[in-house]
Amino acid sequence: MKKSLILLSVFLLSSLIYGQTAAFLLKDGARVESVNMKMLYGEEWISLNHFLKVFGSSLHLDKKQMILSANLNGKSVSFYAGSMFFSIDNQLMHLSTTTELFNDELYYPLSEYLLLLRLYFFSEMIYSPAEKGHILKPSGFTVQDITFREFKNGTIIRIQTTEKYRKEHCKLWEGPNNWLYFTLYEATADTAAFAKTFSEGTVREMVPIQTGESLQLSFRLRKKLSSYDFYIEENPRSIVITLRTPVTGDTQTQLLEKRSKWLIDTIVLDAGHGGKDPGAVAYDGTQEKMITLDVVKRLGKLLERNSEIKVVYTRTTDVFVPIKERTKIANQAGGKLFISVHCNSSRNRQAYGSETYLLSTEKNDRAVEVTELENKVIKFEENQEFYEKLTSEQHILAVMTQNQYQKESARLADFIEKKYIKKAHSKRTYSRGVKQAGFYVLFGASMPNVLTEIGFISNREDLRRLKTKEYRQKIAEAMYEAIMEFKEKNEQEIRQ
Ligand SMILES: [Zn+2]
Repeated sequence: MKKSLILLSVFLLSSLIYGQTAAFLLKDGARVESVNMKMLYGEEWISLNHFLKVFGSSLHLDKKQMILSANLNGKSVSFYAGSMFFSIDNQLMHLSTTTELFNDELYYPLSEYLLLLRLYFFSEMIYSPAEKGHILKPSGFTVQDITFREFKNGTIIRIQTTEKYRKEHCKLWEGPNNWLYFTLYEATADTAAFAKTFSEGTVREMVPIQTGESLQLSFRLRKKLSSYDFYIEENPRSIVITLRTPVTGDTQTQLLEKRSKWLIDTIVLDAGHGGKDPGAVAYDGTQEKMITLDVVKRLGKLLERNSEIKVVYTRTTDVFVPIKERTKIANQAGGKLFISVHCNSSRNRQAYGSETYLLSTEKNDRAVEVTELENKVIKFEENQEFYEKLTSEQHILAVMTQNQYQKESARLADFIEKKYIKKAHSKRTYSRGVKQAGFYVLFGASMPNVLTEIGFISNREDLRRLKTKEYRQKIAEAMYEAIMEFKEKNEQEIRQ
């Protein structure tokens, strides 16, 4: 398969600026295309729709919720109109400022967008003065990622690819001594990165081997499989292998397990951004990543000193933590709550105050969607009746858990904003209240989680406050009190 450099040129010559748009030129060999821009708040904003149409694939625009989705260099990405959030492979990320919507097109500041491309999509992107443009270097590997999800009745292995593979490219078969083999033809992967052993779950070990143009994944299994299969998915572009094992335990014990999971004994604190990702940057150079880290450390100290709760940090220094790593840290720690701290930023310098988001909604519940999708495969089993019963129970469990997390997240978010008003804000209006991000992140399925924006770094008055130790301490104390109140109420209800 073709590995080509995609060349993106920016011509800022005044002759190419028509009214409030400038031209982007794309060169891929002889191919030249242009990406639209717009002047807003005195700077250039790029059309995300247009960029993804030119460089991405599977572009989709949800006009009702104004969500723009596409595949870009092997990752699925979504942008939300007027929102500071975006997601990569169903993981929620924070932008440096909100996107803006014009005529069904989402725009984002060019300077910030180039940073984002380099951070998450094209790490080797360079600026070429000769070409007056940025050269995007897509990774040469066609297999981008391999992830594992454990279920009561098996494991789902997702192989994320840049190319669109068909069934004919794949071969899955069982060998002797508990080995399962998967061969993908015309594929390449960073085999060193994917060699792995697992301490629990269906798979004990994964051994990737590259032979010429084909990639073989060998799975050494811990348990005997009742069946196995694979299917191909378009968004995110991937091959999904399902391994099914005989089920042990019943729904009742599963429910009890879920209940004990809600005792708040471990909290994961996530300081937004870090390292090469500064987050939002204020006019005076103050960086979001430094403020979030300081607040998280203050909050952690309060919890460690005054409670029995174990505190786990996604970072404690100024380092870049990849998104997958943050999720891994949280899930491996067995976190019961996940609190992500960020600062808001808007090109509208008048916007001010705190706001706290819960990251899931019932009407757009991706976790349940995904569960349904994964169960769909199971339904095609020869032993249909058995699996149908199982999957409907599993489904109910997933929905219940989801609704519970939703409720808990809403309650925690509410406590946090109320405590901000009580402890940190001199005016009630400094709280913009609790908001729903309006879309769902898979991550939310594993524990209740909120994202709190402690002020606008783009607003002079907010920035002045954020820069004082006193304000950051008060914010941390407010969050601490909210967590303790949440824990108390939560455990009271479990005892009843
Ligand atoms: Zn942020």
